[in-house]
Amino acid sequence: MRILLQFPEGLKKEALAHAARMSSQGNEVFLSASACYGACDLALEEARAIKAQKLVHFGHAEFMKMSASADNSPSASRLTKVKVPGLRVEYVPYFAEVDWKAAGAMLEKAASLLRASGAKKVSLVFPIQHLKNAKRVQERLEHLGLIVLMGKGGSHVRHAGQVLGCDGTAAVSGKARDADAIVYFGGGKFHPTGIPSGKPVLCADPHLVDAYWITDEIARQEKCRNGALLAASQARTFGILLSTKPGQQNTAGAQLAKKLLEKKGRRAEMLVANEFSPLALANFLSFDAYINTACPRIVDDREAYGKPVVNISEIKRLLEIMV
Ligand code: SF4
Repeated sequence: MRILLQFPEGLKKEALAHAARMSSQGNEVFLSASACYGACDLALEEARAIKAQKLVHFGHAEFMKMSASADNSPSASRLTKVKVPGLRVEYVPYFAEVDWKAAGAMLEKAASLLRASGAKKVSLVFPIQHLKNAKRVQERLEHLGLIVLMGKGGSHVRHAGQVLGCDGTAAVSGKARDADAIVYFGGGKFHPTGIPSGKPVLCADPHLVDAYWITDEIARQEKCRNGALLAASQARTFGILLSTKPGQQNTAGAQLAKKLLEKKGRRAEMLVANEFSPLALANFLSFDAYINTACPRIVDDREAYGKPVVNISEIKRLLEIMV
C-alpha cells in the first residue's frame, strides 16, 4: 500500500522509525515534509498528488469536522478511521509519559495555590497528549481536597476536558461552568492562553515540574485583541485570510465578512493560501488590516504582520465599533 506519513514538528524526529516499520510491512512510504500545526492540518493535497491510498497523521486526536464516518468510540487508544473519498485517513495520537513522583509534588503546589486563592471547585483541562494522565491528575487533586469538574469543548474536540489551541471552551462548559478556577495540566503556554478569560487559570506543568498562574497573560492577550479590533475599525481596505487547509477552510465565513465589510463602505479582497505568514503578506501594501478566517491563533503573531489582524469570530464586534 502507498502511505503518506504526517508528523507535527515535535514528532518529526520519530518519522524514520515509523517509516522503517511500515516499509518492513511491505508498504511504499512517503513522508510529508510540510509544516504541520494541528489535527486540522491533514496533508490531503500531498496525499492526492502522490496517489496515496492511506494518510497516517501522528500526534493529534481526530478533528471532528473531518469525521463524518468516524468510529466515535470513547476509547482513546484505538486508531480512529476517517473516510475521505479515495483516501483512508488514520489519526494516531501521541500520549506523553509523566514522572509521577515529581508531578505529585507539583500538584501539591498547584492545590496549595488554588486553596490560597479561595478556589474549591476546579475545572480540569489538558491537551490530547495528557488524556491518559487526566484521571490520575483528577484523583490527586481530589485527594488534596478539591472538587474536580470537566466540561466538553466544541465540535472539533473529541474528549471531555480536552482543549485545542483554537478551542479552550471545555474549561468553562457544562459542569465546569461552576468551577472557581481552571487547572490546565500540560506544557507550554499555547493551549492555556486559548482558554476564555473570566476565571483564574493555573498551569500545572509536568514538563517544567511547576505550577503557576497564567491569568494575567490571558488578560494581556485579550487586551491586545481589543487593541487590534479598535485599530481595524479605522481601516478602509481589508484582506480576508482564507486557508485551504482542510480543517481551517471557511469560505462561507470569508464571503460573509467581505459582504458585511462592503456594506460598511470598506473595500475587502480574499487572500487564499495554504499557510499564512507575515512574509507571504508583506508585499500586499494596500491592505490596512486583515480578517482571519483560518487558525485563530494566527493573531498571536499580529505584531509580525505589522497590521491589525482580527479573527472572524470578532467580526460582529468590529462592525459595531466601525463608524
Ligand atoms: S486551527 Fe489552529 S489551533 Fe486549531 S487545531 Fe488547527 S492549528 Fe491547532
